[in-house]
Parts: sequence; structure tokens; C-alpha cells
Amino acid sequence: MKILVINAGSSSLKYQLIDMETENVMAKGLCERIGIDGHLKHTPLVGGKPVYNEDIALPTHAEAIAAVIDKLTSAEYGVVASMKEIDAVGHRVVHGGEKFACSVKIDDEVMAALEECTPFAPLHNPANITGINACREVMGDVPMVAVFDTAFHQTMPGKAFMYAVPYDYYKNDGIRRYGFHGTSHRYVSARCAELMGKPIEELKIVSCHMGNGSSLAAIDGGKCVDTSMGFTPLVGLPMGTRCGDLDAGVIQFIMNKYGMNIDEMLAVLNKKSGVLGVSGVSSDFRDLDNAAAEGNERAQLALDMFHYWVAKVAGSYVAAMNGVDAIIFTAGVGENSKSSRKAIAEYFGYLGVEIDDEANSKRGEDIMISTPDSKVKVFVIPTNEELVIARDTKAICC
Ligand code: AMP
Repeated sequence: MKILVINAGSSSLKYQLIDMETENVMAKGLCERIGIDGHLKHTPLVGGKPVYNEDIALPTHAEAIAAVIDKLTSAEYGVVASMKEIDAVGHRVVHGGEKFACSVKIDDEVMAALEECTPFAPLHNPANITGINACREVMGDVPMVAVFDTAFHQTMPGKAFMYAVPYDYYKNDGIRRYGFHGTSHRYVSARCAELMGKPIEELKIVSCHMGNGSSLAAIDGGKCVDTSMGFTPLVGLPMGTRCGDLDAGVIQFIMNKYGMNIDEMLAVLNKKSGVLGVSGVSSDFRDLDNAAAEGNERAQLALDMFHYWVAKVAGSYVAAMNGVDAIIFTAGVGENSKSSRKAIAEYFGYLGVEIDDEANSKRGEDIMISTPDSKVKVFVIPTNEELVIARDTKAICC
């Protein structure tokens, strides 16, 4: 059985074709500049076929999907003989609101519900919907599943997801914490339980997804009980370019002082803030590490803030769960930056965390980086959201 996983953005479309017997990726790729001019990079990973990496006209998402199917099935670059070999398609959808607490098979009713969630994620959901429509147009009645970034966090109790604003904003308008990166938190926490050889129902886990966007999740017995992103992915930790938690009064002050409108203000908070804004150097942690090593104090401050916030939020989740068995690092920074992991773990001395420096220096694999005696276990687990999407799609469709 083969499942195509699609992650559609407004002008891009990422894909993987996964063989579910082995869970190996057969081919992966990226369509870029859809609706502008178009570029497709297609990488076959089985059969010794060459990589296709060319400019190609992609006026719409439907043309992008058609180009992907063409490459997946072509004699020169293909990994399957025809589209008939693709049993189902799994789509990443950013926001499922309160409607979707788990993945669902896509039909017209689900599409209508997705449209209703659009005001919550006006940049992301329309692109996801366009991707699904394009796929339905090109692939006909191949079964399809929507997997939501928000779904895993739907188990949060009211005390964690409510904002302390008039209740009607929640009741009438859906204003609450939703959380994001749920598919990643779900994957790494399940994998952590496997690595520990324990049922996830018996574990308290803090999952730290640290990439361009970063969020933490408190996972008690396999269920998310709190997470750091909110109504939007802007809040919680300081991120690459996003501000994280911020006093709303600062927004009013800056807008008044500099005569900015709300769109200009939000552009600053989304794109020019975070570690980029503080350091003035870069949103990329590799650049920050290099600049800090050369004595750039603002780069060091940005790194210190990030590490402090991860430790502070993680500590609050230990309190929320009344304990912790494991802490997981994942995503670009979590998987690759031994210095960030070390700096964050230094805050966890009170938990009896001890880091094994040799293990912490390894890369690219699931690994326990705490010493065997460490009271709380610390893991690096490369995330794999595509595999979760493919597994859910298989479970629902096949
Ligand atoms: P993601 O959003 O998960 O793809 O993460 C992307 C981010 O990971 C990049 O912007 C970098 O800041 C970070 N990253 C990737 N490799 C490294 C590395 N070797 N050291 C530090 N940060 C890294």
C-alpha cells in the first residue's frame, strides 16, 4: 500500500510517497512558486532514478499536483507504474478548530467544515484547502484524509485552553488557545514511549519542538494537557522571527508612537521579531551560534532568551503535570544544536537531569542524551509529521 502525503502552502506544495509495508519514503519533492512561474524538485529514493530539478510552468495547484503525479509515474523519474498504485492521500491541514480532534476522511461535509475554520488560520487553511481541491480534481475518487496541526491539543482542559477575557468571546467566536505542531508532538511522544519501553499512558512528557517556529507541549498519559502556542502560532516562546508572549499594551504603545496600523504591527511581530529582532543578526540559530562565538552580545542575548524561555515553560509543565518522566527535543534546533540542548538542560538540575555529552554530540537518530542515572530521561527524536499523516490515512482509508 502506498500513500501520498501532501503539505500545500499558498505558493508551494511538499510531498512524499510512502510505502506503508516498510514505512520507507519512495520519493519526495517540492513544488515552488505556484501561480508565479513554477519550479519542481522531485527526488526518487528507490530504484536508482535521477533527481528532477527544473523550472516548470505551475499556474495553479492542480497543475502542480498533475506535475507531481507525472514525475511519480514517469519512466525516467518515477517510482510507481501508474496513479492506480497510490492508494490514498493524506493532507496536512493547519487548523481544525474545535471541530476536529482527530484526523478525518475528506468528503464534501468535511470540506465545508474546513472552510468554517479558515478565519482561524487565514494564511494557512485556504492554501491547504486549495491543495485538497486540486488533488480531488486530478486524482478523482482516491480516498483522502485531513490531518490537523491543532487536533492533538484538543484534549487540553478548559483551565489550560481558556483566555481570561469575557467568556462570550470563547462561546461566540471560538477565541481560545488551540496550539500547533500537534502532529510533531504526537509523533515524538509516542516514539519516546517506545524508546523507554513503557506504555505512554504511564508517562509524563514535555515535548520541545524547536525549529523556525517553536512550541512546547505537556503530555500526560499520551494526552496533551497544555501547549505554548495559542489562538495563533505567534505566541509562547520567542522564535526565529516571531515574538512569542507579549504584553498587549506594547502593541498599543508601538502602534501609537510610530503610527502603524495593525497589519504593519503584526508583520513586525511575525517576521521581524524573535531571535532575529533581538540579535539583529539572523533567525537561523547556526548564525546566532557563530555570531555569539565571535563575541556578538545581542546574538548571545537572543540565544539566552530562547533557552531561558524553553526551560521556564518546561518547568511550568512539570508543575502542571506534577512531575515529568521524559523531556524530548525535536525539529531543526532541537535535533541539531547540541549547544542549545545543553544550555536548556542546565536549567533542569533540580529535576535530577544529567546530560551525557558524548550522546548529546550525536546527530540524526533517536537517542537518549541523558546519563543512565539521570532521574528524568532526555531524548533527541527527529520528528516525522509525514509518517503520522500517512499512518492516519492508512488507518482511516485502508
Ligand atoms: P525547522 O523549522 O524545524 O525546519 O528548523 C529550522 C531551523 O533549525 C533553522 O532556522 C535553524 O535555526 C535550525 N538549525 C538547523 N540546523 C542547525 C544546527 N546545526 N545548529 C543550530 N540550529 C540549526
